[in-house]
Amino acid sequence: MPLHLEVITPERKVYEDDVDMVIAPGSEGYLGILPHHAPLLTALGPGEFRVKKGGVEEVLAVFGGFMEVRPDRVVVLTEAAEPAEEIDTARAQAARARAQETLSQAATLSAADEARARAELQRALVRLRVSERRRPRRT
Ligand code: ATP
Repeated sequence: MPLHLEVITPERKVYEDDVDMVIAPGSEGYLGILPHHAPLLTALGPGEFRVKKGGVEEVLAVFGGFMEVRPDRVVVLTEAAEPAEEIDTARAQAARARAQETLSQAATLSAADEARARAELQRALVRLRVSERRRPRRT
């Protein structure tokens, strides 16, 4: 039985296909989902969302949201999801540098500004990690 995967953001459907397995960045760690998995609802953290199909692995960057698992399908609702080849590496590098610059002045930052900069840095690092995996790989 294949696993039907949909990844949906407020703007668009980023991914829809029958796949063999997904590995998702659950809020409490990475979760591997195969067909026939028990029903599950989990929050997602920012991280790499891996999709395996026919011996090839694709990677998307996802930034929070929820994943609903049923035995024959997985639905991901997330604020933003970017397939590796859509990531603008220069933009992510600029975002990383900006966040690091802000955090280097941590002593002068409010707690809210520091938390915002940390979250920005984390998003940039996820994008850079995922963009290194542009070409689907054999697994
Ligand atoms: P930046 O500071 O570069 O705007 P950000 O982390 O603040 O980055 P987000 O708020 O996470 O950006 O995302 C805003 C929108 O821009 C989303 O639709 C997201 O998919 C897109 N986006 C952000 N950074 C990139 C990137 N490096 N490559 C492709 N799309 C991106």
